[in-house]
Amino acid sequence: MDKKIAKNRIEKLKQEIDYHRRQYHVYDRESISVSALDSLKMELFRLENEFPEFISADSPTQRVGGEALAKFQKVTHRRPMISLYDAFSEEDMRDWEKRNINYLAERGESLSSLYYCELKLDGLAANLRYEKGIFVQGATRGDGQIGEDITLNLRTIESLPLRLFKPAEKELVALGLKEKDIKNLFYLLAEGVIEVRGETIMSKQTLAALNKQYALEGKPLLANTRNGAAGSLRQLDPQIAAERHLEFYAYDLILGDYERGEIVLSRAAADKLVELLGFKRVRDNKLCHGLAEVFVFQRYWEKNKDKLPFFIDGVVVKYDDLSLWPRLGTVGKAPRYMVAYKFSAEQATTKLIDVVWQVGRTGVLTPTAILEPVKVGGVTIGRSTLHNLDEIERLGLRLGDTVIVERAGDVIPKVVAALPNLRTGKEKVIQAPVHCPRCGAEISRLGDDVAYRCLNKNCYAVALRRLGHFVAKGALDIEGLGPKIVEQLVNEGLLEDVADIFALRREDLIGLNGFAEKKAEKLVAAIKSRQEVALSRFLFALGISHIGEESAQTIAVYLSKFLSSPIGRPQELLRVAKKCRLDDWSALADIGPVVAASLFNFWHSQETAALFTKFEKSGLSLLLPLPASGALAGKTFVLTGSLNSLTRQEAKDKIKAKGGKTQESVSRLVDYLVVGEAPGSKLREAEKLGVKILTETEFLKLIQ
Ligand SMILES: [Zn+2]
Repeated sequence: MDKKIAKNRIEKLKQEIDYHRRQYHVYDRESISVSALDSLKMELFRLENEFPEFISADSPTQRVGGEALAKFQKVTHRRPMISLYDAFSEEDMRDWEKRNINYLAERGESLSSLYYCELKLDGLAANLRYEKGIFVQGATRGDGQIGEDITLNLRTIESLPLRLFKPAEKELVALGLKEKDIKNLFYLLAEGVIEVRGETIMSKQTLAALNKQYALEGKPLLANTRNGAAGSLRQLDPQIAAERHLEFYAYDLILGDYERGEIVLSRAAADKLVELLGFKRVRDNKLCHGLAEVFVFQRYWEKNKDKLPFFIDGVVVKYDDLSLWPRLGTVGKAPRYMVAYKFSAEQATTKLIDVVWQVGRTGVLTPTAILEPVKVGGVTIGRSTLHNLDEIERLGLRLGDTVIVERAGDVIPKVVAALPNLRTGKEKVIQAPVHCPRCGAEISRLGDDVAYRCLNKNCYAVALRRLGHFVAKGALDIEGLGPKIVEQLVNEGLLEDVADIFALRREDLIGLNGFAEKKAEKLVAAIKSRQEVALSRFLFALGISHIGEESAQTIAVYLSKFLSSPIGRPQELLRVAKKCRLDDWSALADIGPVVAASLFNFWHSQETAALFTKFEKSGLSLLLPLPASGALAGKTFVLTGSLNSLTRQEAKDKIKAKGGKTQESVSRLVDYLVVGEAPGSKLREAEKLGVKILTETEFLKLIQ
């Protein structure tokens, strides 16, 4: 990227990110999804890495945490409320484990691979302080050191105990607590300080019920459960928090201080202990032996998260052995002993490169967005449907825009918004085409129909038939590209003509209905395996009228004489074939004047020229037929007049048996003219073209 462009883009990104940040963190309004915002931050981060001279102190990449609102009292956390490292892939997780192993190995210690995995609730974190077992203060995370005092609001939460329960000794023994620790815990409950951390959330059900009510009352709706929770806790009037029905789930317990390891228990036991103290906890949390089990757990919940009553955005993976926590310690602002293994972001930002129009079965034109490939929902996508021109207008899209794309679960990816503030002024308005991109017929918009249509009734059927023929057995024979898939790809706008097949990419297919990653990869591999194809098969596959498998073979043998052996390029083939005159074609065996005309027209059409340009670009190579074996291999004979010792059919069979070929008329490509009694005009023709002439005796000698 050019320096000036980079500087501009960085400025614009900074403003855009700051605008959405304020909306989100100051006003609890979600003007853009967290993942889309992250995507913008990532782009800014990469640009700043490339052009460090443009990094400024006010850049969002230089910020750590949020700041407390002035209206609440500030609370200094006894122990900082740490933020977590994010991992987005199994590779990230393995790296995290490896770093920890190395870190401890340097100190002569070893690491356990027992992990406690907890669902990562998406709400507002809070720290609760209990003195002598009584809830005295609750605070938000704030910047990690100083938070806001939201005690009054937290007190309205029914699932938050105002006084801690005292568990029975038996229950504590069952959790593995030693006698000394039990004594210590009872002391803390009666005389000391216990802090509990957890997530304040709004359930999906509560959000739906509240929004229904607010809609009736004409009040603004809550954007999502996270905003529902955060917004409620930040209200100065606790009455509002009370009516929001929030819930509190505990996920951390500070008995003394972990960093000094005062009470010895495992993380799994601590999780159970909070329940004994009177808190709600996530029952689906699980102890995992090794990262492989962690991966299974994380994948399971990524798939099944919608079944939960609350939103989660990943899994927090913690070392179960709490004695490891102080030994691993923290690096920067985040601890080494736990990591947030996030689900794939469902939204990301990217550039709209182009809009292509596809023609469906009914002739309706549908626009498809061609995007700069971007990872969203765990896979890389390069295109997405835009439905119709009205949708483009509704989104206010222009070519070159930065857009937000979304892929939730197995739903087909879509463009959900454009970010017009990031424009440079070079973006272009998107218009519907005037002619059909497939057949060139006129396009019209009928009445108040939102759709544009191709008026050629055969447009779709012809395209389907051509594509179907191209990939069928005997032609390119591409596995996994049956008629149904061909039709689907045509409908998705991925295939307009046969050359498009070679341009299919993994990221085009993923996200289509029925295309999981594996199926997409398999199909792309099957297509790739046909990038080197026998010339005869290719010629047959083109679907030139009247050309069957056998005549395709004849044409292949004929044309290969002019092509560089053993592999021809599409453009070379086109050049050679275009040089052939009508008579050259009709001179070939089994090719009459009608077929010759069809061949001639095919090679000289503009459509063919366009097709071959695409074939050439796709790297297609054509394997030329090997010369036939036998004494007469590669030689072509024409017979004229009648022979004495054998019939014309017998003569033809003998030539074939020796690897030679026969044809009916003389051309410059014929090697021998065999002359019997009473020869016709072929003799004169052969003499004119300088073709070698054989008498019957000479011919018999040759075929012996
Ligand atoms: Zn058309």
